[in-house]
Amino acid sequence: MRCPFCRNTDSRVVDSREVEDGQAIRRRRSCSACSRRFTTVEQGVLAVVKRSGVTEPFSRDKVVRGVQRACQGRPVDDDDVQQLAHRVEETVRAAGVAEIPAHEVGLAILGPLRELDEVAYLRFASVYRAFSSVEDFEKEIAELRKATERDPAG
Ligand SMILES: [Zn+2]
Repeated sequence: MRCPFCRNTDSRVVDSREVEDGQAIRRRRSCSACSRRFTTVEQGVLAVVKRSGVTEPFSRDKVVRGVQRACQGRPVDDDDVQQLAHRVEETVRAAGVAEIPAHEVGLAILGPLRELDEVAYLRFASVYRAFSSVEDFEKEIAELRKATERDPAG
């Protein structure tokens, strides 16, 4: 990790502490060249296993892009999408596993997306729940209606 001030590559750790329930370590470093201090965060790499068997690091940006696609034309603002992606990341990291199937990342998106926008949720669910017929959609919509009746405010 290069010093962000002078680009020197050597630094000394002056303090480190666990953050995010031990999922990450934040280190306070002192640059050995310019003595200025900066912070780094080390996070365990969470790998996402795609259907093809290929793994790639979990990316919050990818979640954001997927959700944005589902939210196209919907009254959802960017902050909401960012917040949702943050929640999804917390959920998948909280599972405490090193590898998670891509499918499960998709499922972790469904809950918060349903709270955010029902149309976007249906678009997303049609992919991740593999809706294969109009009946599947109707069933899901009926579920949504029921949930709305139980809790009219939400
Ligand atoms: Zn420096």
